[in-house]
Amino acid sequence: MNIKENLEKIQATLPAHVNLIAVSKTKPAEMLLEAYEAGQRLFGENYVQDLIGKQPELPADMEFHFIGHLQTNKVKYIAPFIACIQSVDSLKILKEINKQAAKNDRVIDCLLEFSIAENDSKFGFNLDEVQELLKSESYQSMQNIRICGVMGMGSFSDDTDRSRREYKKLKSIFDQLKAEFFASDESFKEVSMGMSADYQIAIEEGSTMVRVGTDIFGERNYKE
Ligand SMILES: *Cc1c(COP(=O)(O)O)cnc(C)c1O
Repeated sequence: MNIKENLEKIQATLPAHVNLIAVSKTKPAEMLLEAYEAGQRLFGENYVQDLIGKQPELPADMEFHFIGHLQTNKVKYIAPFIACIQSVDSLKILKEINKQAAKNDRVIDCLLEFSIAENDSKFGFNLDEVQELLKSESYQSMQNIRICGVMGMGSFSDDTDRSRREYKKLKSIFDQLKAEFFASDESFKEVSMGMSADYQIAIEEGSTMVRVGTDIFGERNYKE
């Protein structure tokens, strides 16, 4: 497993407008550092305890994106340093992020997570829920979060037609929200979709951010 070679191989296939998030969940700090030394700066993590255990010993300019399901009572642990929370799936969690960001005198970037997988009931909003959220007074009064786009997980399967449909759906949700709520907001620009198995398809369907773990760091030691 050569992390540097893996990163270079993937980077070489990415168009300039697509960012690579190196998904380092469950991996030890040394492996993240190896990726950092190869030039990688964006990392994705799913578990709060795992992340706060390794973050203090890592370089301060590593940017962490939280991509796993986040419990309200754990937001406070990551609010001081997290670069982006991609897995916002309720108004309740968004309120808590806003509150903890304020306590830290920060504005935290967020993505809205949509449920797009056809064979799986993953966490995430549907379009109606988000339209309602974005119209709410509660959202409009939030000063310490910035919504930068959308995120979605495709189905786990090797049915590439299905992945493509799911990613098309997320892109069309992004386009609709952009037109309806964020037309003049340049920060709303991210479509985070695509993993090791299917990031090329995701890019063809409009991804701006691919989240790749296994193809960089190898298999993880647990069943998901
Ligand atoms: C684990 C994970 C990934 C990366 O998956 P790989 O198949 O290892 O590339 C991407 N996104 C999310 C939300 C994840 O939990």
